[in-house]
Amino acid sequence: SLMTDEKISPSPGAGPDASQEKRLVVLAGPTAVGKGTVSAAVRDDHPEVFLSVSATTRKPREGEVNGVHYLFVSDEEFDTMVAEGQLLEWATVHNMARYGTPRGPVEKALSDGRPAMLEIDLQGARLVRETMPEAIFVFLAPPTWEELVRRLVGRGTETEAERERRLKTARVELAAEKEFDVTIVNHEVHQAAEELVTLMTLGIPSKKSDQADK
Ligand code: 5GP
Repeated sequence: SLMTDEKISPSPGAGPDASQEKRLVVLAGPTAVGKGTVSAAVRDDHPEVFLSVSATTRKPREGEVNGVHYLFVSDEEFDTMVAEGQLLEWATVHNMARYGTPRGPVEKALSDGRPAMLEIDLQGARLVRETMPEAIFVFLAPPTWEELVRRLVGRGTETEAERERRLKTARVELAAEKEFDVTIVNHEVHQAAEELVTLMTLGIPSKKSDQADK
């Protein structure tokens, strides 16, 4: 029977096992909460952490480096990645561009014993939870609703209708907090980064999926 077959071992490409998944943090949170800034702080302060570089079909912004911030790909290249199963998850964000997490590098980091982090949107986080349920799902929250509003509309470049649309999206996104294992409040970026790295290395004492009565 399977129980007595000692020759079973994970095949290459079988994906990380449950204990390896526990070193993976999936960071999500509302628009403008500062996910990008917090993951940049993890990159600077903790080079030992593997930060997933997403593929995206959007155009690079000023200062963004291909292969560092994103892999900037064409629609056709993205289609190929999807068709070949190269992405752990992908989503269309803000009805505009597609973004996805390349599977291979994440699996390699975890099997090498490195802590790893994905900074993705809510749809993506929900998809990863299907395939890697043992990962640690972290919601990055603003200190207050007012602070989020300030960050969203603060640039003053949007029209009234655009502001309303963003605030509505933010309200929906904030309501997703309860789906996550842990909330980290983004009071200060380096402190939030430390909290994330602690989770990757020490885990959560009482992760929901560890409880028998789930
Ligand atoms: P931006 O274009 O401002 O860099 O990112 C827009 C949104 O895309 C952010 O909410 C970011 O978290 C999300 N995002 C970035 N990479 C990925 C990814 O690989 N998968 C998913 N699902 N979302 C991503």
